[in-house]
Amino acid sequence: MNRNSMPSVAIAEDGWCSGVLREPSPNFDARPDGVEIDLLVIHNISLPPGEFGGPYISDLFMNRLDCDAHPYFDQLRSLRVSAHFLIGRNGDVTQFVSTNARAWHAGVSVFEDREKCNAFSIGIELEGTDFLPFASEQYEALAMLTHALRVRHPLRNVMGHEHIAPGRKTDPGPFFDWVRYQEMVASALPDDRAEMLSFPFSHGKSPR
Ligand SMILES: [Zn+2]
Repeated sequence: MNRNSMPSVAIAEDGWCSGVLREPSPNFDARPDGVEIDLLVIHNISLPPGEFGGPYISDLFMNRLDCDAHPYFDQLRSLRVSAHFLIGRNGDVTQFVSTNARAWHAGVSVFEDREKCNAFSIGIELEGTDFLPFASEQYEALAMLTHALRVRHPLRNVMGHEHIAPGRKTDPGPFFDWVRYQEMVASALPDDRAEMLSFPFSHGKSPR
């Protein structure tokens, strides 16, 4: 992405993104008063694990997953989770929760001594696994979305779920190319109002 291919998506004041699919999930609540949304959290997810393209991730976030459809789903029965965004293998973006609201993606987590990262973060799920590279279309969509989010919110850091919940979570995993992502974000020329963005390796985490 460069100056000639500026993002075609934007986050409105109500926290919903134009130009992407929208599936309003019931799994959210209000952020604490006065909290600054300064952290972006990158995840991976696939349902069933390692299989791509089904409706199951959206179904999970919408509380409509048929938990009898696959043996793995049995353990998801009582789960109430969401992310703000999901980026499919083909780069399609779906938004489930307004960025102004608290999505339920990070669980028990800590960033710079602040616990419960959902309160001050935005969560993006990439359809994928810890065992396979992500698609170019996903990096392009992620960079575009990151740009739009920085224009709307004072994001200062991007971390993986694995970095804010170490020992408990492993996503986005070793195949997520943080350097590639950082380079794409850097070339997107953020709005003047945007904060500088730090990546995991700025915090001593390995970029792999
Ligand atoms: Zn995760």
